[in-house]
Amino acid sequence: MNNFTTVFIGLGSNLSDPAEQINSALNELAQLPSSRALQCAPWYSSKAIGPGDQPDYINTVVKLETILAAEKLLDQLQSIEKKHGRQRNIRWGARTLDLDILLFGEEVISTNRLEIPHPEMNWRGFVLKPLFDLAPTLTLPKGHSVKEYLAACDTSDLRLLKDVFIAQ
Ligand code: AMP
Repeated sequence: MNNFTTVFIGLGSNLSDPAEQINSALNELAQLPSSRALQCAPWYSSKAIGPGDQPDYINTVVKLETILAAEKLLDQLQSIEKKHGRQRNIRWGARTLDLDILLFGEEVISTNRLEIPHPEMNWRGFVLKPLFDLAPTLTLPKGHSVKEYLAACDTSDLRLLKDVFIAQ
């Protein structure tokens, strides 16, 4: 029996050497317990949408399979963010590392800790473009295809940084 759920995780960083933050986060994600088959989309740079004059972001998306429950996965992601010195104070403020669970199988989850599908993913080019690169035929639960959302989204600020797929 296959108990693994396919999960897509969005990664973003715009502080303290973002490329290094993303690289080490990928290594940490590859070591997650009860998880396997990590694949990484190409990396993009994007303009910050938050307050003030912030540096550009590096964004990508990772696909993995896990037998962790969604909240256990969130615990793991938050402990990786913490290791990267992430402080949660300003909404949409600059950050060393942001890890979001975009999709957790076909599940729709709404608890006080988790909203899945991630509520902002449908209009964020820096999420949709790498997600589309990884999974061009994906459809969101109760929603449209990633391709349709991407077509409706402004991606003019995105710049391809690293066109490699990393599978571990
Ligand atoms: P952020 O500042 O974007 O990292 O938001 C972090 C907060 O969002 C945490 O308190 C999480 O509990 C909550 N959250 C809700 N839905 C999600 C999700 N799909 N992935 C990650 N964090 C989430």
